[in-house]
Amino acid sequence: MNKFIVIGAGPAGAGAAIAASKLGEDVVVYEANNAPGVKPCGRGIPVIGELPIRVPRDSVYHEIHGAIMYVNGEFLFEMKGVLSGYIVDKTLFLESLIIESGAELVKNAKYIPSEGVVKANGMVINIPGSGVFAGGHPYYEGEKILAVQYRIKTSEFDDSDMLEIYFDTEILGYFYVFPAAPGYVDVGVGGFKGFRDLKRLLDAFIAKDDRFRDRDRVKLEGARIAVGGIKYGYIRGLVKVGEAAGFVLPLTGEGIRPSLLSGYEAARAIIEGRDPIKAMDSMDISRAIRIQRRILEYVKDLDPDSRAELLKSLPMEVHAEVSLGTLNVGRILSSLASKPRVAAKLLKFIVS
Ligand SMILES: Cc1cc2nc3c(=O)[nH]c(=O)nc-3n(C[C@H](O)[C@H](O)[C@H](O)COP(=O)(O)OP(=O)(O)OC[C@H]3O[C@@H](n4cnc5c(N)ncnc54)[C@H](O)[C@@H]3O)c2cc1C
Repeated sequence: MNKFIVIGAGPAGAGAAIAASKLGEDVVVYEANNAPGVKPCGRGIPVIGELPIRVPRDSVYHEIHGAIMYVNGEFLFEMKGVLSGYIVDKTLFLESLIIESGAELVKNAKYIPSEGVVKANGMVINIPGSGVFAGGHPYYEGEKILAVQYRIKTSEFDDSDMLEIYFDTEILGYFYVFPAAPGYVDVGVGGFKGFRDLKRLLDAFIAKDDRFRDRDRVKLEGARIAVGGIKYGYIRGLVKVGEAAGFVLPLTGEGIRPSLLSGYEAARAIIEGRDPIKAMDSMDISRAIRIQRRILEYVKDLDPDSRAELLKSLPMEVHAEVSLGTLNVGRILSSLASKPRVAAKLLKFIVS
C-alpha cells in the first residue's frame, strides 16, 4: 500500500497525520529536525469548539483562562471568561499527537524540493507526488513579520493562568508575556520592524518591568510569521498546508490552531478524492484569516494614534471575536449597539 506522505512535523503536519490515520491510511511524517516543535513559538493554543484533536494532558504547562490587554502602556481591560486555552510543551504536544495517531515519525529526514526526495540517515527516499507539504514559514510566499522572544528564568508565573498582551501601535504589533515551562516565562514582541529594532524595544520593555529586569535571560530566539493571508500552492504535487500556505491569523500571529486545521482538512480531502484547496478554503478559519488580513491592511494605513483610538473603541467581547477569529456577526452587533459607526466599519470588513 502506498504511504500517505507528510513533510514537516509541526502543527500542520500533525493535523494531516491525524486525519489520514483516522481514515485508515498508512502515514509517514518526515521531519528535518531531530524533534518536532523546536521552532521559536509562544506555544499558546486557544480552545475553540472546532479543534479536531484532544490536547495531550502531559504536554500542558498551563491552562489559560484569560488575558490582560494594554494599548501603548495604558491598561485596556482584563479579558476573563471569553478566552481559554493552553500553553503546551510543543515538542511533546506534537510528538504525542503524531505517535498516538499511529503515523510513523521519521526525524532528521529532510525533503529536498528540487529533487523530490527525502534524505534521512544516509538514505535517499523517493517521494511520490501525493500528500501534504507542511514545512512552515520558509516556504510561504506572502508578507511576513518577525517575532523575537526571551525565555526568562523566574518562578513568578508558575501558577499563572493569564496571558499579557501589550499592543504597540507604532510597530503595529504587540509585546507578550506567556507563562512557559515551570520556572520560566516567555517575553516577546512581534511587529513590523527588523530584528535590531525589535530586540532593542524588547530590551527596553524588560528593563521597565521589575518582574524581569534582574532575571536570567536563558535564551533569545526569533522567527518569521506569515501575516499576508492564505496563498495556496503545491510543491511537486504535495499540497501546501499550515504556515507554508499562510494559515496564520494576521492580526494576532496565531498559527498553531489554523495550521493544524488546514493540515487536517487537506489530508481528509485528498484521501476522499476531493480538491484539498477547496476544502481548506471553505473552513471557518480561512474566512477568519481573510477578514483579519483585510483589517490589517486597513490598520496599516492609519497613523499610530488612530490605531490606538480604534483599539480602545472596541469592547472586550469584540476584541475576542476578532482576535480569536470567531467573528459572530450577531454577537459583534449586540456588543457594539451603542457604537453604530464602529459596527458599520467592522461589518464592512467581515462581509466584503
Ligand atoms: C516567536 C513566535 C511566537 C509564536 N507564538 C505562537 C503562539 O503562542 N500560538 C500560536 O498559535 N502560534 C504562535 N506562533 C506561530 C506558530 O509557531 C506557527 O504559525 C505554527 O507553528 C505553524 O505550524 P506549521 O506546522 O505550519 O509550521 P512549523 O511549526 O514551522 O513546522 C514546520 C515543520 O516542518 C519542518 N520542515 C521544514 N522544512 C522541511 C523539509 N524540507 N523537510 C522536512 N521537514 C521540514 C520543520 O523543521 C518544522 O518542524 C508563533 C510564532 C513565532 C515566530
